[in-house]
Amino acid sequence: MAATRAAEDSEDARTRLDGQRARQAASRAAESPERRQSRREDDRARHAASRAAENPIQRRTRSEDQRRRQAASRAAQWTFMKREAFRYDPANNYDSHPQLNIGQMSNVCPYCNALKWHAETRGMCCSGGKNYGTKWCCQSYLTVPTTFPSVCG
Ligand SMILES: [Zn+2]
Repeated sequence: MAATRAAEDSEDARTRLDGQRARQAASRAAESPERRQSRREDDRARHAASRAAENPIQRRTRSEDQRRRQAASRAAQWTFMKREAFRYDPANNYDSHPQLNIGQMSNVCPYCNALKWHAETRGMCCSGGKNYGTKWCCQSYLTVPTTFPSVCG
């Protein structure tokens, strides 16, 4: 397999990876919620075991690789906006671009009732209910009484 991959050109690699991606997406779309949960638990355990076995150098290398991949991925997503601020065109409808329009705050957190954007994670307001009712929850600030008993009698 390694020799086969070493011999493939970038077009072959892209075709192979596209096929792999499509098969994996179809497989995941067909799996039951129980199977998905089981797969994710297996993945979590495998990653935890792998990370526990890392030495500090391997850990640092993995973190740096991950940071580099994430930075490259983020940069690649925004190449269409590179230096756009320096050539702003008021005729462009920037807010209709799907990558720039983040939608409405129409999702409601089931734990703290905070309004959230479509793709906002569960942890952004109250960590999925873990911090609900603590001083860190934005909703708890909203429920602080607006009148206080007088301390002067
Ligand atoms: Zn919340």
